[in-house]
Amino acid sequence: MSMLLDWITKNPRATLRNQKPPQKDGSCVIYWMQRAQRGFDNPALDLAIEVGNRLELPVVVFFGLHPRYPNANLRHYSFLIDGLAETRDRVLARGAYFLFRPFPEHDLLELCRILRPALVVGDENPLREPSGWRESAARKLDLPLVTVDADVIVPTAQFTKEEYAARTIRPKIHRLLPTFLKPLENLSALQSWQPLGARLDSLNRPIDAEGLLCNLPLDRSVSIAPNVKGGSSEALKRLDHFVAEGLANYDTDRNQPHLRGTSELSAYLHFGQISPLTIALAVKSAVAPELAREAFLEELIVRRELAVNFVKHNPGYDRLDGCHKWAVDTLTRHSNDPRPRLYSAEQLEGGQTEDKLWNAAQMEMVISGRMHGYLRMYWAKKILEWTASPDEAFRLAVELNDRYQLDGRDPNGYTGVAWAIGGKHDRPWGPERPVFGLIRYMVYSGCARKFNVPAYIERVARMSQEIQE
Ligand SMILES: Cc1cc2nc3c(=O)[nH]c(=O)nc-3n(C[C@H](O)[C@H](O)[C@H](O)COP(=O)(O)OP(=O)(O)OC[C@H]3O[C@@H](n4cnc5c(N)ncnc54)[C@H](O)[C@@H]3O)c2cc1C
Repeated sequence: MSMLLDWITKNPRATLRNQKPPQKDGSCVIYWMQRAQRGFDNPALDLAIEVGNRLELPVVVFFGLHPRYPNANLRHYSFLIDGLAETRDRVLARGAYFLFRPFPEHDLLELCRILRPALVVGDENPLREPSGWRESAARKLDLPLVTVDADVIVPTAQFTKEEYAARTIRPKIHRLLPTFLKPLENLSALQSWQPLGARLDSLNRPIDAEGLLCNLPLDRSVSIAPNVKGGSSEALKRLDHFVAEGLANYDTDRNQPHLRGTSELSAYLHFGQISPLTIALAVKSAVAPELAREAFLEELIVRRELAVNFVKHNPGYDRLDGCHKWAVDTLTRHSNDPRPRLYSAEQLEGGQTEDKLWNAAQMEMVISGRMHGYLRMYWAKKILEWTASPDEAFRLAVELNDRYQLDGRDPNGYTGVAWAIGGKHDRPWGPERPVFGLIRYMVYSGCARKFNVPAYIERVARMSQEIQE
C-alpha cells in the first residue's frame, strides 16, 4: 500500500491530503465526485479506476448533493441535476458504480463508515467552501484522501505563487502544454462492483430531477434558466456547433454581443460537465484560422487558469483587498468623489438605470442566466461608477454575478469582478479620472463604436418577450 501511495503522489495532478494508513481489506475505492461532474476526460475518475485496478477493488463514484452551497439557487441546482443521470450512465459504462445520495444523506464520512473503502479519491476546487470541505474530510477520515486537479489543463500546483498577470503565467503555461494538452486514456474499471451490488443499491437514491427540485431545501428565489439544459451531451453538442459555426470568426466576433459569437460553454465548465481538455483538443485540431484558434485557447487556458491561480493563492479573491496595492490606493484616493448617479441595489438588480445598454445586459443575465462576456466588463465597471464606495461595488457585483449567472460562483467570476473594479491582472491607465482613478474606464460611446448596441438591446428585448409568451 505504501508503494501505491508513493506511486499516486508521482502523478502531477494528485495530492495526498493526509497521512492516514489505507484501510486493510477495504471493500472498494471511492471517488468523491464534487467539481468534475462527468464520466469522461476526468483525471480524478481515471486515478480512482487505476488505483482500483491495481488493488483489484471495485470503484464507487459517490455524488452527495448538498442543497445549501453558498449563493447557489434553484437555477444552479436545476442545471447541475440535468447532468447527473448522464454522468451516472457514463460512469457505469466504465465499469464503476455511481452512488447518488442527496441531502440529508450526502455525508462522505458516514458513507465511508458503512462501506470501509481502502482509500478515497477526490477532485479539487480552489474556492473557499469546497477547499474547507476537503480539508475537513482529510482530517476526519481514518483513511487516505487523495485529490486530483481535474478541471484545468496545466495542474495548478505547477505555479507555486500568485501570478501577477497573464503576461507572467502565459509563458509558463505554454512551456507545459506539450506535457498536459494530451488526450486521456479513459480506462475502464476491471473489478466488478456486482459483489457489493445489493449493499450499494440499498444506499443509492434515484436521480429524480423533478422530485429533487421540489423537495430539497433550496433557495428558490431565482427561476430556472429557460432554453438551456445542463449535461455533458449538451456541452458536447455546443462544442461541435461552436467549432463548426463560431470558431473561425472568434477573434473578431467574440466582442460583438449582438452576434453572440462565443462558445457559451462556461456553465458546463463551471459544473465540470465538460473538461477544458476536451474543448482545447477539439479547438486545437479544428479546421479554422490559427488566429481564431489561438484567441480562443488564450481565453480557455491562459485566462481561465490565471483565474484559478488567483483564487487558489489569494484569500481575498472576492473582496477589493485581494487586488493590487496600486489599485486599492487609487480607488481609495477617489472614494469620496461625487458619483454621476447613485442607484440602490434594488434599482440595479431590476435593471432600472438610465443606461439602456446596462439595463439590457442586467436583464439578459437575470432572465437567461448568462451575460455576454464583453458586456460583463462594462456592467461591473458601471457598478463602480454608480455605488457609494468601491467596496460596495465589488460586493454587489459579486452578489449579482453569483446569484444570476449560471456560471457564477466560479474563479472566473471573482477574477472578472476583481479585474473590472479592482484592476486585477491589469495595469494603471491614465489619465486619472473621477471615481475610477487609474482603473481602466469603459463608457457607452466606446461600446457603441465597438458593436451594434441597438441590435443587442433588441435581441435581449426579443428574448425576454419570447420567454414571457
Ligand atoms: C465582471 C465579470 C464577471 C465574470 N463572471 C464570470 C463567471 O461568473 N463565470 C465565468 O465562467 N466567467 C466569468 N467571466 C469571464 C468571461 O466573461 C466568461 O467566462 C465568458 O463570457 C463565458 O462565455 P463563453 O463560455 O461563451 O466564453 P468563450 O469566449 O467562448 O471562452 C471559452 C471559455 O474560456 C474561458 N474564458 C473566457 N473569457 C475569460 C476570461 N475573461 N477570464 C477567464 N476565463 C475566460 C471561459 O471558461 C469560457 O467558457 C466574467 C468576466 C467579467 C469581466
